[in-house]
Amino acid sequence: MTSFLTHVPWAAVAVLAGLAVGTLRSRRRMAALPVLDPASHADSAPSPDGWHLISARGVDVDDATLRAAVAHADRTGLQILDLIPGRLDTERALGLLRVLDRSASRYGRTAEARGAGHALLIAEDVRHRAEIEPDSAAPETEELHTLLRRLKAYAPDATGVAIAPALASPAPDSARRAAELRAQGLPPNLVIASQLAGLALLVGAVVVDGGWGIAAAALYWLQPALVLGAPGSPLRPADLTRATAARPLLSLVAALRTAVSSHRASSGPLPELDALRPGYDAELKAGTDRFFEPRRLDCPWCGSADLSVRLRVPDLLQGKPGRFTLEECGMCGHVFQNPRLSLDGLDFYYRDFYEGLGVSGAAQVFGTMGRSYRARAAMLKPYGTPTAWLDVGTGHGHFCDSARDIWPGTHFDGLDMSAAVREAEARGWVGTAHHGQFPDLAAGLVHRYDAVSMYHYLEHTREPLTELDAAAAVLPPGGHLLIELPDPESRLGRILGSHWLPWFQPQHQHLIPIGNLRQALADRGFTVLAEEHGAAHQSCDFVGAVLLTANRLAPHPYAPWGPGTATRTRRAVRRVVHTAALPCYVVAAALDAVRAAVARATEGGNAYRLLARRTPAASEAA
Ligand SMILES: [Zn+2]
Repeated sequence: MTSFLTHVPWAAVAVLAGLAVGTLRSRRRMAALPVLDPASHADSAPSPDGWHLISARGVDVDDATLRAAVAHADRTGLQILDLIPGRLDTERALGLLRVLDRSASRYGRTAEARGAGHALLIAEDVRHRAEIEPDSAAPETEELHTLLRRLKAYAPDATGVAIAPALASPAPDSARRAAELRAQGLPPNLVIASQLAGLALLVGAVVVDGGWGIAAAALYWLQPALVLGAPGSPLRPADLTRATAARPLLSLVAALRTAVSSHRASSGPLPELDALRPGYDAELKAGTDRFFEPRRLDCPWCGSADLSVRLRVPDLLQGKPGRFTLEECGMCGHVFQNPRLSLDGLDFYYRDFYEGLGVSGAAQVFGTMGRSYRARAAMLKPYGTPTAWLDVGTGHGHFCDSARDIWPGTHFDGLDMSAAVREAEARGWVGTAHHGQFPDLAAGLVHRYDAVSMYHYLEHTREPLTELDAAAAVLPPGGHLLIELPDPESRLGRILGSHWLPWFQPQHQHLIPIGNLRQALADRGFTVLAEEHGAAHQSCDFVGAVLLTANRLAPHPYAPWGPGTATRTRRAVRRVVHTAALPCYVVAAALDAVRAAVARATEGGNAYRLLARRTPAASEAA
């Protein structure tokens, strides 16, 4: 038995199994895609009024296809339809089937929308809300990819793809390949690395393992024909025969060409970074002192003067200049930034994080949190049905959008100090946008909501107790307040020290132990109904530590707040550090998975969630 096991060429078998699964999955995904039928809509079809078609440069959508697309969108209630050309070339067809979400015929609310980048049919209403000019010039393929991802926000549960059999596809331009991948949210270097690693693995399997390796290589070779070559296949690439015959060579060439185009795009300072430099230079000319207020001598929570330094750390998130101190109160355990940022400082250090440069990165992170948003919303289930819900610190309204899956009948509004909340309203993710500071707006919101949520919000505010006062003022007796915060008592916060992501300097102003929050709520007439620790855990401790360490060792060479010159050495160091970090991320992700399981089992994560009900204050009861 043992000798049999040791003689099975596991690597080759694993490659073979992986290829087989991948082949079947691609076929299943293609079979699940709706196929337009232009023939049946040649003249009887609905008119394209109320619809707007955007096609990439060089793509010509015929009238029958357009009418069939409109008919399909009308029938299925889609507002955005991405058309996949039936004649899409083999490499892009296979690539698309690899990354297409299972729900692509109608994307799930928080699923990432990907399409073919050829033609996009959008409802006039979406075009209007997204402020797209009706007669703008034809975009490039990568711009259409970006546009689809942006527009999905305006029709989160009414976006899908369909195959347009008659739609032709212009020959792919390999110089744009890296840009296209990036626009689809796929890091080109990762795609290249996995492509080359796959080829190397295959060659290795053939050389070392003989039979099994040859079987794996044969399956790899034939994969295009097996996925796309069946009679009646809705996708019929014109280059299928050639692409299958020369597959290993073409894959190698494609990977190398992508590498070249990716290198060209990333080897110099990006124009969008350079454009920001003068603004940052001007702000930094006088140094960073004005970004800080004087250090305070007592605890903002309990007034004790027993303070000690918990942490000193630079900005490991963006690498902006400055050094930040978290102090801990010996009396109540409150942790807070001291000296804290001034208003100028907040403005400076938040800039280009959630907005501007950082907007797509932030959207990507928030976009993956659908499950966690739904869990937050579901916490209220045992205690009542909310009628009107105000999400404070809502940003682009991601929580409200997801929470509708749990509370379809509830009206969701959002409040934020950033203009992102206006965008949330335009997308329809929040009903009404309240733009400003919660304590300033509270007087106008009294008793308009029976649920108020503050998810990862209080730690960003300057005066969390004033925010709680505002919540107590807005909610009627019986109303619910839901709060989620990073937990400064988490053991990993001590172990990982300055590389623990939830310290999140310089943004987090206050880190509140749950006991303190409970007391503050009781003081304001709230009764705590439920607490969750394991369920609130965010699985990011170890991956975050690798990220912060890599940022510390090798900051972005072209950051607009940096020196502005990137020597060859700095660029090389950056490349080495980030390459060395790749395997660390893999290990860290595994550790995070274990950590998340432990957190759930032991009710001890890096964050906590709390639900409280407003009880009538003594004066109100009387
Ligand atoms: Zn204190």
